[in-house]
This record gives sequence, structure tokens and C-alpha cells, in this order.
Amino acid sequence: MSDTFTALVVDRLEDKHCVEIRDFAQADLMDGDVTVTVKHSTVNYKDGLAITGKAPIVRRFPLIPGIDFSGRVTASSNETFTVGDCVILNGWGVGEQHHGGLAQVARVPGKWLVPLPAAFTTFQAMAIGTAGYTAMLCVMALEDAGLTSGAGEILVTGASGGVGSVAISLLSQLGYSVIACTGRPQEESYLRQLGARDLISREELSGSPKPLGKMRWAGAVDAVGSKVLANVLSQIHYGGAVAACGLAQGIDLPGSVAPFILRAVKLIGVDSVQCPMPRRKQAWERLARDLDVKKLEAIAQRASLSEVPELAEEIVAGKIRGRVVVDI
Ligand code: NDP
Repeated sequence: MSDTFTALVVDRLEDKHCVEIRDFAQADLMDGDVTVTVKHSTVNYKDGLAITGKAPIVRRFPLIPGIDFSGRVTASSNETFTVGDCVILNGWGVGEQHHGGLAQVARVPGKWLVPLPAAFTTFQAMAIGTAGYTAMLCVMALEDAGLTSGAGEILVTGASGGVGSVAISLLSQLGYSVIACTGRPQEESYLRQLGARDLISREELSGSPKPLGKMRWAGAVDAVGSKVLANVLSQIHYGGAVAACGLAQGIDLPGSVAPFILRAVKLIGVDSVQCPMPRRKQAWERLARDLDVKKLEAIAQRASLSEVPELAEEIVAGKIRGRVVVDI
């Protein structure tokens, strides 16, 4: 194998945030007992923040961004993985403080890797990516909270984005009646194709939240936070649940405790980055079982490494539909 490979690199030069595609030395990769030839990576919202420098995601410079990847093992001293195995990586600080997936080669501790489920190609695994695996964690969280498909309508916010698109696909496949909350009415046919039964506009949930509203939703997957999440909480049925994973609208939560103390509503936080390995494996097994892979065709668009900086700007601006898979 060559001593160098091609990588997207984020750096800070004279206090300026820079992004370039350049050769990177294998010797400059960080410690890890498994080396992977990356086949696909993606552009998640967090990658958008890291690459544009709009939030302090990158913790050391220079750094290869990319919080997830799929690929094939080329060297391993880890007892679980051998050369030729196909693997997935999501999170663990990769693309934040450990060199990430937007490069031809990655080296990571094997304990961070999930074996690629037989149901997926490396492309499909990244069409799902961290956003889709997080959507699965959200669905599992709602199930753990006792939600069932007969309970009533389930709202998915940030519907046209990565988490939203996979959440709609999964929930509809599982028999839930899914309502998509979107700021992009032009995506109606896309959202219905994924399985949304109906749409509501983001504006409807972006006003000042009341402590309690009319009970509309049995549960929700929320990728946006802020006023939308506060409004959603005020509209959840008695005993219902919301899985909250994102902050596309904002990190604040300008609501009241009324839904929790008067309607026994559950707000469940979902984190994909440090999620323990047994739960991650379970999430990927569930994705293999419960996701209609045909829908990934509609959800995913392909991109090359050189297109990533522009796509990073677009995802932070809320302009990307579904998922972007980077063909490394
Ligand atoms: P995307 O950009 O693909 O999707 C976000 C969606 O949110 C957009 O498509 C848009 O959907 C909606 N949106 C954008 N801007 C606003 C706004 N100002 N107000 C309300 N809605 C808005 O991102 P991802 O799906 O990849 O990630 C979604 C969120 O989840 C991000 O905040 C991300 O950081 C977080 N996340 C968290 C994880 C965790 O471990 N907790 C893991 C993965 C993601 P529409 O146009 O349909 O309204």
C-alpha cells in the first residue's frame, strides 16, 4: 500500500479556517489497531459544521473530517476483525478529534467498528450513515417508552433531512401513521414516497410555545430542537414520548415542564456518538431488518470528495434533501 493517500483536511492557519484536498501520510494517522480502505463516507449535519467551521466540532488541527465511513479492513491486530472484513464506523469522536472518514484510509480502534450487516452494501450503509443510525436509535427509544404503531400519529421534524428521511421510512415500515413536519412543502411527494401519511409546516410549530396545547401526537422524533421541540412537547398525548436528537433549529428549549408533570410526557435524549456497542449493533441489526432498502435510492445522492466543501455549506443551510454519500 502507498505511504500516502488522498484526504479532505481541515486546518487552522493564522487563525483562519481552511479546507483542502491533499495527500496525507499513513504515518500521520492516529493510533488504532485496524486500518480500513474507506469506500464511502457521508456529509452529516455535524460534518457540515466541522467543515465550514460554523461550530467548534473539530478539536485538533490539522484533522480529516467525516464522522462516519464504511470500507474494507486492510490491516488488523484486533482479534475481532481480519483483513477483508467490511465495517462501519459512526461517531466516537472520529471527524472531531480522531482522523475521520473523508479520506481513502482510516485507522481506528477496532472496538469502535461495527461489522457491515449482510443486508447492506458499503454504499447503502452510508446512505443510512450516522443520521440514519440515529433515526433507528430514536425509534428504539420510542419503543422502549412503550409506543406502539396503534397509539396514534407520530410526528417527525426536520423531515426532509437525513435523520428525518430515515425516521419516516422506518416508522412507516413498522406500521406507524407518520406525519412529516417540514419547512419545504415542495418536498411533499418525496416525503409521501418515504411513507409520510401527511405533512405539517414548520411554521405551525415555530411560534412561541404554550405550556400545553391540543394533544395531537402519540410520539415524535425531533431533529431540530428549540421552539419546534417545545411546541411538539406541548402537543404530545398523555403518557406519550419524544425522542430528541438534534438542534437544526437551535440548542435552546424554550418550553415548560407542564407536559412532563401534567401529561406524563417522556422526553428521551438520543446520542449516537458514545452509544454503547451492544445498542449500536442492535440498531444496525434493526436497520437491516426494518428499513426498506429500496427507499435509500430516493434518499441518497452521490458526491465526490471535491464536492464536499460546497455540500457542507448546503447542509448547514438546510438545503440538502435526504443523505449525501461520498464516493471515496
Ligand atoms: P439535515 O440537515 O440533513 O436535516 C436537518 C433538517 O432540519 C433539515 O433538512 C430541515 O428539514 C430541518 N431544518 C433545517 N433548518 C431548520 C430550522 N432553522 N428550523 C427548523 N428546522 C430546520 O441534518 P441531519 O438529519 O443529518 O441531522 C439533524 C440534526 O440531528 C442535526 O442537528 C444533527 O446535529 C443532529 N444529529 C444528532 C445526532 C446525535 O447523536 N444526537 C446524530 C445525528 C444527527 P425540513 O426542510 O424538512 O424542515
